[in-house]
Amino acid sequence: MEKNEILRIYGTDYKEMTKTLLNEARLFERIKKGARIGIKPNLMAPVPADFGATTHPEVVAGIIEHLQEHGFNDIRIIEGSWVGDKTEMSFEYCGYNNLKDTYGITLVDTQKESAYETGNGDIKVNVCKCMQDVDFLINVPVIKGHCQTNITCALKNMKGLIPNSEKRRFHSMGLHEPIAILNSCLKQDFIVVDHICGDLDSEGGGNPYHTDCVMAAVDPVLLDAYVCKLLGYEVSDVPYIGLSEKAGVGCADLSTLKMHTIGGDGVEKDEVLPVSHRIIKLKDFAKDVDTCSACYESLMEALERLQDEGLLEKFNSKIMIGQGNRGQIGEYGIGNCTSKFKHYIKGCPPESDDIYEGIKGWIEEQ
Ligand code: SF4
Repeated sequence: MEKNEILRIYGTDYKEMTKTLLNEARLFERIKKGARIGIKPNLMAPVPADFGATTHPEVVAGIIEHLQEHGFNDIRIIEGSWVGDKTEMSFEYCGYNNLKDTYGITLVDTQKESAYETGNGDIKVNVCKCMQDVDFLINVPVIKGHCQTNITCALKNMKGLIPNSEKRRFHSMGLHEPIAILNSCLKQDFIVVDHICGDLDSEGGGNPYHTDCVMAAVDPVLLDAYVCKLLGYEVSDVPYIGLSEKAGVGCADLSTLKMHTIGGDGVEKDEVLPVSHRIIKLKDFAKDVDTCSACYESLMEALERLQDEGLLEKFNSKIMIGQGNRGQIGEYGIGNCTSKFKHYIKGCPPESDDIYEGIKGWIEEQ
């Protein structure tokens, strides 16, 4: 498989599809004998994969079986859920404890890891120490929309390999530049993409859109550029892609891309996904200054409910959210970072239900 290729396969037996895909890509030939292999899924929260937010365990099972059948047995799954949720709950609810028992592999929770400093140039990043024991990293992201960065796939999924304190710092730096730097100093060697039923608008899922596809790629920049096209964005709408390209992580030029569908008729058809950008429209109601993902997702979920009930248009103030509001005063705020505001919803991150009830109360008072 070449660097400018994306292989894809469609079907509903996700484990067997993945194994067919990896045999076609000849993944086993890329890995040195005796290598310590890390698999990085997306388990941002304890929600099942059919919710549209997390990596299907069947895909990871297919990867593990491919590796074990080719004599690779030093395998660990490495992940850290987003700020506000516990990885150990995600491992349990998303079916990864079962994978551990079935295949005798190790689960590594990066929320419990200490970190080492790395980086190129002026900006340094703190990466979890477990990554020093990985020789070959297989990234297994889910294709999803994202309320702050528009899309999330291979490049952003690497954020699960840094501690929570560093995730907060990334948000305070605007996400794009640190994501590019993280990718420039932490290489993903192979990517298996769960494109089975990701939510096209939200990182947290809730509205899965079924495509029943698993893909394989080598270049995370080219893959993410392709995901922009799939979700109706320009590559320039997701600055970390261009920044990663500049940092030498890969190539964002889609004219170089070669698609190959396994079991296809040889004619590569463009996939057509419904483009709603539903969450983007809700962003107008809030002002975000360096907000953590879980906090922003909770707000968007609450705003969506209020909009569905026809209440949101009745609220005529801006809602402030994010770490940039710490110590500031204001009117309406979300999360403990806005604790000095006249009205604010407690929590770090606050629950979506609390935000919904809180804003509903503000609307009634106005
Ligand atoms: S309250 Fe502030 S620190 Fe806590 S999750 Fe929200 S933005 Fe992040």
